[in-house]
Amino acid sequence: MNDASESGDPSSHKNFIEVEVEKDFATKPELAGRHVVTRFPPEPNGYLHIGHAKSICLNFGLAKTYSGKCNLRFDDTNPTKENEEYVNSIKTDVQWLGFQWDELFYASDYFGRLYEWALQLIREGHAFVCDLNADQMRDYRGTLTEPGRNSPFRDRSVQENMDLFERMKNGEFVDGERTLRAKIDMGAANLNLRDPVLYRIMHAHHHRTGDAWCIYPMYDWAHGQSDSIEGVTHSICTLEFENHRPLYDWFCRTLRIYHPRQMEFARMNLSYTVMSKRKLLQLVNEKHVSGWDDPRMPTISGLRRRGYTPESLRLFCDKIGVARFSSTIDVIILESSIREHLNAIAPRFMAVLDPIKVVLTNYPTDQTEWMEAVNNPEDPNGGSRQIPFTRELYIERDDFMETPPSKFFRLKPSGEVRLRYGYIIRCDEVVKDSAGNIVQLNCTYDPSTKSGSPSAIERKVKGTIHWVSASQSSEVDVRLYDRLFISETPDEAPEGKSFLDNINPNSVRVVRARVELELAKQAAGARVQFERNGYFCADIKDSIPGVPIFNRIVTLKDTWAKIASKG
Ligand code: ATP
Ligand code: MG
Repeated sequence: MNDASESGDPSSHKNFIEVEVEKDFATKPELAGRHVVTRFPPEPNGYLHIGHAKSICLNFGLAKTYSGKCNLRFDDTNPTKENEEYVNSIKTDVQWLGFQWDELFYASDYFGRLYEWALQLIREGHAFVCDLNADQMRDYRGTLTEPGRNSPFRDRSVQENMDLFERMKNGEFVDGERTLRAKIDMGAANLNLRDPVLYRIMHAHHHRTGDAWCIYPMYDWAHGQSDSIEGVTHSICTLEFENHRPLYDWFCRTLRIYHPRQMEFARMNLSYTVMSKRKLLQLVNEKHVSGWDDPRMPTISGLRRRGYTPESLRLFCDKIGVARFSSTIDVIILESSIREHLNAIAPRFMAVLDPIKVVLTNYPTDQTEWMEAVNNPEDPNGGSRQIPFTRELYIERDDFMETPPSKFFRLKPSGEVRLRYGYIIRCDEVVKDSAGNIVQLNCTYDPSTKSGSPSAIERKVKGTIHWVSASQSSEVDVRLYDRLFISETPDEAPEGKSFLDNINPNSVRVVRARVELELAKQAAGARVQFERNGYFCADIKDSIPGVPIFNRIVTLKDTWAKIASKG
C-alpha cells in the first residue's frame, strides 16, 4: 500500500509527495525562483509520538532534499488543552530526532491578522455572525445524504455582522452564544463547506496571548492562512484533512492571498499501539503508565527513555515509506530498526537476569583468570576487555534443565556446555533446598578447553551460554518491558469495552540481575547488548551514578540459535 513496497528500495525512489513537489516546481510559474517551504505544525496539547516522527521526517526531509526550509509551527488555537510544558517537550523531541527548524512560529502570533481577515470576509459578504447554539447548528447542518438548511441569521447585514463580531471580540457574550461562520453553501456535498465556523467564543486564558482574546479561530480558519503567511509551498497533512482541502483553498482564494498547496498522506498506525494524543493522555492521567515518557509509551520521549536512538527512528520512518492510503505498520519493523542500529554500535556485556549459582569443584578456590572478551564483533575498532573467571559463577536459570527435551543443548545433568570466553563445563550434581528448588549446580571444568586456546578447537559442544563471576560481579535492577497492549489493534475494543481493556497486565517485570562490573559503571543513557538477552539502556531518569537501572529496549531475534551455532 505504500511507495516503498510498490517500488522496492525506498531510498532509491522518490515518494509520491516528492514526485508532486518536483512537478509543481517544474510547471507552476508562481513557484519560479522559490524554494520548497514546509512546516511541522503540532498542536501543543500533548507529547509527540512515533506518528509525529513520520511527519517530522517527511517535512524536514523534503526541505533537506530540495535545499528548502522547514519551520516548526505551534498550532495553538485551542487554549484549554494547550500549555507550555507541551511546547517545550515538542521542541526537545524535534531536536533530539536530529532536526532543526529554520523558523519557529505560533499560530497565536497571527490572531490579529486572522481577525482582520475575518473582517474582510464580513465586509465582502462572505461571513456572518450566527446565533444558533451547537445543537441547533448540528441540526441545520444536514447529513451526508441530505443538504443542510441556511441559518436564520445568514442574511444579517454587513453592518450588523461587523457590530456583533466586534462585540464577540470585546467579550460581551458568553461561551457558545454566537459564532462567526463563513457563508459558502449549505447544499454542498462536502460538509466542511456548509457554512463552517471560523470563530468561537471561549473565555479562556491562552498560554501565550493571555486574556487578550476571548474568541479563538477554528483549525481550518487558522491553518491555511498560517501556511500562507509563512510562504509554505507544500502543506503536508494527514488523510483526514483531504476533505478539508476545498475549504483550505476557498479561504486562500476568497481572501486573495498567497495559496500554498495542501497534500495528504496516510496517518501512520502501528500494531499493538495506540497513537491518539487523547488516549495517550488518558493512559497518563489514569496512571496506567508512569508518565508521557514511560518507556512503554509510543511517545518520542518514551522511546528515548526506553533506549531508542534518533537514528533508529529515522531509519524506521525511512523503511515504511510514505503511504497514500491508510495502513498499519507492524511494530516488528520498529523493533528491527533499533536492533539494526544497536547491533552496529552497542558494546556487548554479559548479564545474568535470573541467576543460579555454579560451583566449579575442580577450580582453584582463590584463582581469578582474566578472559578476553570482544566488545563488539560488528565493530572492528570496538576492542576487547578482560573479564574475571572464578570458581563460583552465575548462569541463567533457564540455561539449565534437569530433565530436558532431546534438542536441549545447554546445561543438563552429566551434560556439557561452553561458557562464553571461558571453558567447557560438565554438570555433576544438582543441589536442592528442602523444598526441592534447585539452588546450585556443582560442575567441573575442562582445563584444556580455554576459549581461544589451540586445544579448545578439538573439543566441540553444541551450546554456549553466558555467565558472570559470583564474587566479581554487580547486582542491578533490570526492567523487562514488553508491549503495552496485548491486542494487535488495541483501538478496536468490543462493545462496552475500551482500549484500556487491551492493556497488557504484564508489560513490565523488574528483576535483580547479576552483571559484569563494567555494567554497573554505565552512565545514564548508555545503550548496551546483554549477550543472548537483548539490548538495554541505562534509564535516563532513575539511574544514579554507580547504580544504573536498565530498561530492556528489545530482545535479540533468534538469539539462542545464533549463539549456539557459533559454539
Ligand atoms: P493525534 O490525533 O494523535 O492527537 P494530531 O494529528 O491531532 O494527532 P497534531 O499535533 O495536530 O496531532 O499533529 C501535528 C502533525 O503531525 C500534523 O501534520 C499531523 O498530520 C501529523 N501527524 C499526527 N499523527 C500522525 C500519524 N499517526 N502519522 C503521521 N503523521 C501524523
Ligand atoms: Mg490535531
